[in-house]
Amino acid sequence: DRDWRILKEEFEITTKGGSIENPLRNWHELGLLGKELENILVKRLGYKEPTPIQRIAIPNICRKDKRDFLGIASTGSGKTLAFLIPILTRMNNSQPRPIAVKTLEGPKAIVLAPTRELAQQIQQEAKKMVDCWNVQHPQHSYQVVSIVGGHSLEEITLGLSNGTDILVATPGRLIDSLESHLFSARQVEMLVLDEADKMIDLGFEEQLTKILNILEASSEVITRRQTIMFTATMSPSVERIANGYLHKPAYATVTGTEA
Ligand code: ADP
Ligand code: MG
Repeated sequence: DRDWRILKEEFEITTKGGSIENPLRNWHELGLLGKELENILVKRLGYKEPTPIQRIAIPNICRKDKRDFLGIASTGSGKTLAFLIPILTRMNNSQPRPIAVKTLEGPKAIVLAPTRELAQQIQQEAKKMVDCWNVQHPQHSYQVVSIVGGHSLEEITLGLSNGTDILVATPGRLIDSLESHLFSARQVEMLVLDEADKMIDLGFEEQLTKILNILEASSEVITRRQTIMFTATMSPSVERIANGYLHKPAYATVTGTEA
């Protein structure tokens, strides 16, 4: 207990919400997938150890009870992998899906980002990791697809035609695609709202509500969908979104700025 307190202090992690999982000490602690992921993270991507937000976010998002999570950490602190690693871990716990099934069922995870640039950055980071993973796991062959402004509905349809596991999107284009039934949202198990503060600054609060309602209506996931939110700053509107859409989340803040 004392060791964990020291570790949290060292990484400037504070938590809230009760029964929070302890931070990762290293990549090994990722469990079953740990060895393989560690290989990819260290050898392929050059990430020797987790950043503080990754240490605290990963074990809390990977919880079996799919508890919601809110992470607060500054820009450049490694938030992308803090949600991508849990997405990969969760997907890998279920049966491989042939392309035909993927195109029918739609994505398992949706990541929402405020701008096209940010969405594309996330897609690239996800693709880097997933491509390494796919070499060892051709039966899964995970696909990462982005849906952003500037893409026509035809281009989006083409992008989705090989099946989608992780969808990265901006709010406006995601709504268009959902309303045009370009894909099914019934299997979405994880929803990530990245850069929630920026989303609100850019005036996407209403779109966010709309997306959450559409997902709610189309969901056939028997267990509850997990919602994960990341933000660089906390504000009354971020708090309002969190209170409205997260169910008893685990909160974690990293106050240090080092990555
Ligand atoms: P944020 O979303 O918090 O702004 P990013 O996820 O974009 O931060 O990561 C910032 C940079 O840190 C990226 O260049 C990323 O490749 C790098 N990075 C992520 N995780 C690690 C890690 N564990 N070790 C070293 N660098 C990392
Ligand atoms: Mg980010």
